[in-house]
Amino acid sequence: METHQHRADALVVGTGYAGSIAALRLAEAGVATLVLERGRRWPVGPEGDTFATQHAPDGRASWLSPRSPLTDRTLDIRTGVLESLEGEGLTMIAAAGVGGASLLSNGTMVEPSAALFERAFAGVLDRDEMHDVWYPEARELIGCSPIPKDVLESDFYRSSRDFMEQLDRAGIPHEPVDLAVDWDVVREEMAGRRTASHIAGLNVFGVNSGAQRSMDVTVLARAEATGRVEVRPLSRVTGIRPAGEGHLVSYDELDEGGRVVARHEVRAAHLVLAAGTLGTTRLLLRARAEGALPDLDASVGSRVGNSEVITARTGMAPNNPAQGGPCSVLVRDWEDNPYAPVTLLNFPWVDAPADEGWITTIGASPTEPLGSFGYDADADDVVLNWPVEDPRVQRAARAVQDTLDRLNAATPGSRTAFNRIGTTGGNVVGGVPLGLATDAGGRVHGARNLYVVDSSLLHGSSGAVPPALTVAAVAARVTSLLVPSVAGR
Ligand SMILES: Cc1cc2nc3c(=O)[nH]c(=O)nc-3n(C[C@H](O)[C@H](O)[C@H](O)COP(=O)(O)OP(=O)(O)OC[C@H]3O[C@@H](n4cnc5c(N)ncnc54)[C@H](O)[C@@H]3O)c2cc1C
Repeated sequence: METHQHRADALVVGTGYAGSIAALRLAEAGVATLVLERGRRWPVGPEGDTFATQHAPDGRASWLSPRSPLTDRTLDIRTGVLESLEGEGLTMIAAAGVGGASLLSNGTMVEPSAALFERAFAGVLDRDEMHDVWYPEARELIGCSPIPKDVLESDFYRSSRDFMEQLDRAGIPHEPVDLAVDWDVVREEMAGRRTASHIAGLNVFGVNSGAQRSMDVTVLARAEATGRVEVRPLSRVTGIRPAGEGHLVSYDELDEGGRVVARHEVRAAHLVLAAGTLGTTRLLLRARAEGALPDLDASVGSRVGNSEVITARTGMAPNNPAQGGPCSVLVRDWEDNPYAPVTLLNFPWVDAPADEGWITTIGASPTEPLGSFGYDADADDVVLNWPVEDPRVQRAARAVQDTLDRLNAATPGSRTAFNRIGTTGGNVVGGVPLGLATDAGGRVHGARNLYVVDSSLLHGSSGAVPPALTVAAVAARVTSLLVPSVAGR
């Protein structure tokens, strides 16, 4: 197969939170920017059937595999929205599509407290700078807001109101969580004018109503509107090697069934990796294993972490637990938990029995960055290791149990159905630790004009809260540092 040759001043790999922000800021600085994204575009139309749903999953739910940890069904093979990587102790899920995980996440945008931030980033990032400059910028770019009163008061959100009452009785601090959701579209869902998506708890394979403020319709759309950004979907980067002052980047052009229809090489003067924890670490470890980037720091692949905890409680009066998403309530049990700070966010469980009350939560508690990615040359892929049985990891589940115990004590009849430190997770971060594998501005050690801007920069934690807002804030910061070099200022 012939290999097509191209050139780019700036090449960004990946279109999640980080890649979209990098593309926008480069374009605003006048830099012509090419963006390669392995997944397809997912335009939401009036039919409201762009994505698969949990009720009827098909190949749109899974990246080039008939299996997904989120369904028992065997799927047709397509360039679907979620890749899963079965690791030791953890099955990681990572998004694929223009918009990255913003297409299908719960969209919760949470800044850690000063204490939690320091616990995750002491010596790596300055908290005052992040809090004063980059978190506000990330919030402004993403556009997030809490659930409005009229939506919360609808029957769809009965379990959220039930949860808030339980938290008040237990004396556990909580507040409405900021979400990257267009609430006017949610109101349209409630009125039956759009496909029931968030109100029906259907977002993990994508949001069919158009209520998701995903990067493809917000930040990346702004970048494309400048006329300086070209996004090539279904373009899977397979290799990077140095060429002159920049890099030669190989990529496969795919069809929607994942077949390679053309091969390409781009000579990029500046290369910005934003392929996410899995994608970026995979590309760098492969380049080192192949001898293309032999001088990468030994820390590449290290300081990986997963602080996700999934819980379910039942034994309460029926509260419509299958509806009312994506989340509403942020529980900040950050001061009084005797084991460790705990964050919980409620979300609907679509298969919950209608005649029982349930409250399901996704949460986080600090864990150490004990995970790692290695490279298996025979399989030509990364291997993930997460010591889920390590007492330092299990302490997170113990801390969450303490929060649940107080909720159960304040809610007669209720009990914990399960409390699981994530064995399947989308909140995994780390692998290219900022300040170790890169300089303080994300410039990769051991390479020229190569930058990382995404979730792999975090040292295995975003401070016991879900990572997206922190990923976006860090991306905004490191992009601001790399733009002058790329723009030649
Ligand atoms: C199901 C799910 C739900 C989540 N919910 C929340 C939430 O509610 N709140 C929260 O804070 N966090 C949440 N997260 C985590 C959060 O979304 C991620 O931390 C965040 O998206 C990371 O951003 P990123 O830009 O680093 O990478 P991503 O958003 O993962 O984007 C990386 C992009 O790079 C592309 N890519 C990868 N490899 C290649 C390649 N070789 N060539 C070309 N393109 C490539 C991918 O297809 C993807 O589009 C969730 C994650 C998942 C998976």
